[in-house]
Amino acid sequence: MAILNADLHCHSVVSDGTLTPEDLAARAAANGVELWALTDHDEIGGQKRALAAAHANGLKYLTGTEISVTFAGETVHIVGLGFDADDERMHEGLLQTRDGRGPRAKEIAEGLAQVGIKDAYEGALKYVGNPALISRTHFARFLVETGVCKDTNEVFRRYLTEGKPGFVPHRWANLKDAVAWITQAGGIAVVAHPARYKFTANEEYALFHEFKAHGGQGVEVVTGSHTAAEYVKYADVAKEFGLAASRGSDFHSPGESHTDLGQLPFLPGELTPVWELLADRIQ
Ligand code: AMP
Ligand code: MN
Ligand code: MN
Ligand code: MN
Repeated sequence: MAILNADLHCHSVVSDGTLTPEDLAARAAANGVELWALTDHDEIGGQKRALAAAHANGLKYLTGTEISVTFAGETVHIVGLGFDADDERMHEGLLQTRDGRGPRAKEIAEGLAQVGIKDAYEGALKYVGNPALISRTHFARFLVETGVCKDTNEVFRRYLTEGKPGFVPHRWANLKDAVAWITQAGGIAVVAHPARYKFTANEEYALFHEFKAHGGQGVEVVTGSHTAAEYVKYADVAKEFGLAASRGSDFHSPGESHTDLGQLPFLPGELTPVWELLADRIQ
């Protein structure tokens, strides 16, 4: 059934969202979501709360996370769905992936200090809900608060992306490892928002080819990061590579996200939804 209000991508205060897992579950239910997953960046510390809150709000639940990976010099995000949230290798892999965030954040602050933005590390920390997960998003919120930029998009464009003063190159997990952590824990790996990466056609082909070879099984087709034309393009990619399709808003915050939970179009009917492959993992 492609016609299911599944929202399998969003963030809480456990990573770079501004709502608690409980508030997200209530918001998802109010928006008509039937099947939900909380997918915090490099972190599954919110999973038990999310599952309990899903059930309290009458939602079905899949465990989730969004792992930061470095592929062909770019950061790629791999969503994991339906894995065992108590799996040891998954915990260890995510711990390693989170590991460099503290030193990276200090370097980001040094870069910003050089262009006259002082105390950004301390400023970003005020927005952090989980000390193990300081993200560029937290810096962006601080720069909006202090009036340096009018919104977080502008902060990323002017300060936090490649070539800008607060950009620090970072080595995340390997694609192969991230897919393995998810699949050996009983879950499915999904390429998140593929249209967001600045890949050539050859690099994008290599990403999907290698992802598949490592055991990856899904791709986000309908996401808050894609245009309607990109839904069509990645529906074709799903068919070409024999991947199941996923749907998720990537909701972070009522004030920042354009796409609310559960509001996107349904998946195109000819695709296999990831939740069909995960039927026995739905809680
Ligand atoms: P990090 O994992 O610290 O590199 O931060 C990445 C996060 O920053 C993403 O998950 C998004 O939430 C956010 N982000 C990335 N690019 C942008 C952008 N151009 N505008 C707004 N938020 C962005
Ligand atoms: Mn994020
Ligand atoms: Mn992402
Ligand atoms: Mn995300």
